[in-house]
Amino acid sequence: MTAPYTLENTISHWIGGEIYRDSGGRTQDVFNPATGAVARKVELASVQTVQKAIAAARQAFPAWASTPAIRRARVLDKYLQLLIEHRDALAAIITQEHGKVFSDAQGEVTRGIEIVEFACGAPQLLKGDYTEQVSTDIDNWTVRQPLGVVAGITPFNFPCMVPMWMFPVALACGNTFILKPSERDPSASLFLATLLKEAGLPDGVFNVVQGDKLAVDTLLEDPEVRAVSFVGSTPIAQYIYERGAANGKRVQALGGAKNHMVVMPDANLDTTVDGLIGAAYGSAGERCMAISVAVLIGDIGDKVVERLEQRAKALVIGDGMKPDSEMGPVITADALKRIEGYIAVGVEQGAKLVVDGRDLKVPGNEGGFFVGGTLFDHVTPDMTIYQEEIFGPVLVCVRCASLDEAIELVNNHAFGNGVSLYTSDGHAAREFGRRIQVGMVGINVPIPVPMAWHGFGGWKKSLFGDMHAYGEEGVRFYTKQKSIMQRWPQTIAAGAEFSMPVAK
Ligand code: NAD
Repeated sequence: MTAPYTLENTISHWIGGEIYRDSGGRTQDVFNPATGAVARKVELASVQTVQKAIAAARQAFPAWASTPAIRRARVLDKYLQLLIEHRDALAAIITQEHGKVFSDAQGEVTRGIEIVEFACGAPQLLKGDYTEQVSTDIDNWTVRQPLGVVAGITPFNFPCMVPMWMFPVALACGNTFILKPSERDPSASLFLATLLKEAGLPDGVFNVVQGDKLAVDTLLEDPEVRAVSFVGSTPIAQYIYERGAANGKRVQALGGAKNHMVVMPDANLDTTVDGLIGAAYGSAGERCMAISVAVLIGDIGDKVVERLEQRAKALVIGDGMKPDSEMGPVITADALKRIEGYIAVGVEQGAKLVVDGRDLKVPGNEGGFFVGGTLFDHVTPDMTIYQEEIFGPVLVCVRCASLDEAIELVNNHAFGNGVSLYTSDGHAAREFGRRIQVGMVGINVPIPVPMAWHGFGGWKKSLFGDMHAYGEEGVRFYTKQKSIMQRWPQTIAAGAEFSMPVAK
């Protein structure tokens, strides 16, 4: 049993296997969103600090890339055990800095651990293809080799899980990694780093730079960084994709979302309402797979809204560490203001405000960044609260007459991350799955986050780039394919050939 990680007053960087302090530089406050108090500060890396991390990763690359995949996997296996041992300590850090309820934070860590389990299969995942005798006395095979130094830039809403969508797979493939976590909840990244060291990862293979745009831009400009994985909002995802690609890097940039749940008249009312409440208000709506639009078909609509109203009003909202809390605060005072602003715009544009979460005060946590579960009905596609990602506990209901109309509505939306259909009709479910223009689809599943070996990614403005995170696409993203064709001397020296070689 290792000692639990102690939170520092100032969160620094992790370079070359140890804490690196960027003394005298810029810092930013990190809050406990449940109290509104500044909990600690985070250093914001200078260009020199990022370059130091890149140099450490570059130096560590040749040895790590040459380490047999099974030995890399053994380090990850040890890491897996340590993560399981420290799951609750990690979850507590997440709740302290993000605000989500503790059981939700535990779930986040578990979903991250599953990617490590997947990455432990590195020897199998990296196995190449071989064809004997592609031509007389010639064999041809393909291998997948690591890229070099790769970077991950991650959002605030999953400070543990989203980095773990990236680095376990990247490391398993033989790359060295630089993580640039969100500056709003940075502590979990250092805990993840210390456990990697304890698992036996060589120094420099995994590095963390805390920071903001300056750190991100330095990573995007440096030619040593071969690939960038990004998860965050759509405008930044597009920026990262364009700038990274212009600099010759491989980029996968996952963006924002507006996920719909389509409810057919034959859906089971209880499971539908349970699904909507959890997926709309869980983690205060700050999930890229949160359901933020309910598309209600036909006469089930009134019954769903009536039940949602009762349930949204009854949500237990409070400090995420309190065992009975169902929903915690949002991440910052700015986020609270932005969400309340959207609610005002919804009212102005004529949507029916059924439950208003504004001006919520939680007794004992008056300074916390709390907004209550909010419900709108009779929202139309031209309204801002339908079109834009609010990223808070605001569920909007749109009424539709048929499944065809609902599919058209979803397909016309700019985002295409997740979607769900609630129904008891298998034919409708099959049609929906086939025709819907969204990357991740749930049938009677509210939040269809794919398992570790299936890969995560949306369509349209929810993903820039062609490969999804983790799963086999993750392995492809973090490796280059090489084809080797070979023959041996007996058959050589038959004279030069000037025509295109063909099988003989
Ligand atoms: P964000 O885009 O503000 O920040 C993400 C990262 O980008 C952070 O590390 C941040 O430091 C950096 N960044 C911010 N502004 C930058 C700039 N101008 N230039 C360079 N880098 C910059 O996102 P967020 O608020 O931390 O996270 C919430 C967003 O992430 C939501 O839009 C949510 O939908 C999205 N998200 C998407 C997925 C997905 O899988 N598609 C998953 C989780 C979150």
